[in-house]
Amino acid sequence: MVDVVKHPQRYPKHEGDKGQLFGGECNTTRCHDLGARYFNNQTYGFYCQGCARGINRFGPHHPIFNEAAGPLTVDEMTKIHRDYMREDFLARETDFSPI
Ligand SMILES: [Zn+2]
Repeated sequence: MVDVVKHPQRYPKHEGDKGQLFGGECNTTRCHDLGARYFNNQTYGFYCQGCARGINRFGPHHPIFNEAAGPLTVDEMTKIHRDYMREDFLARETDFSPI
């Protein structure tokens, strides 16, 4: 029995464990693939490799998915999200030419 950690800000809020269990069902609503190991630091959900690759292609600056090594705690998810937002902010700043 694996404890499933559900982030309070996860999106969408599926019934059951969908998208919330490392190695479980993908978080994409219409996808039912198992083995979701790719953590999306925007939706706080786990995704299968196909969905993660598809979404990453449209990433603004760098991938919004990281392959997780295992289940994550709420604090770990929050830290990954914060680190991403900081890196993304810095990446955007460097895109602008100095005035
Ligand atoms: Zn999927």
